[in-house]
Amino acid sequence: MLTPCSNCSRRGDDCLVNLSSSRCSACNDRNVKCDLIVSQPEWDRIDRDKEKLRRQLEKAEEDALEARSHALRLRRELAKVDSKEKEMFD
Ligand SMILES: [Zn+2]
Ligand SMILES: [Zn+2]
Repeated sequence: MLTPCSNCSRRGDDCLVNLSSSRCSACNDRNVKCDLIVSQPEWDRIDRDKEKLRRQLEKAEEDALEARSHALRLRRELAKVDSKEKEMFD
């Protein structure tokens, strides 16, 4: 667990690291100095979480692409059957 910064522990707030600011979110919001110290294992964990999310996103995007090309294939298939049907009626 992350040790809350002194501001958060005083206020009893949740101390959440803000990666873009090296401050915690609460201090970042209040724009005050933050003495949050993130230990190396904590950074590693955050990095791992980020990496995991990135991989999940890539997978989801791949799946979406796959689904789209599948839908396209089906539409072509359907169009083919459609035109065949018309030929039969002609
Ligand atoms: Zn904090
Ligand atoms: Zn803070």
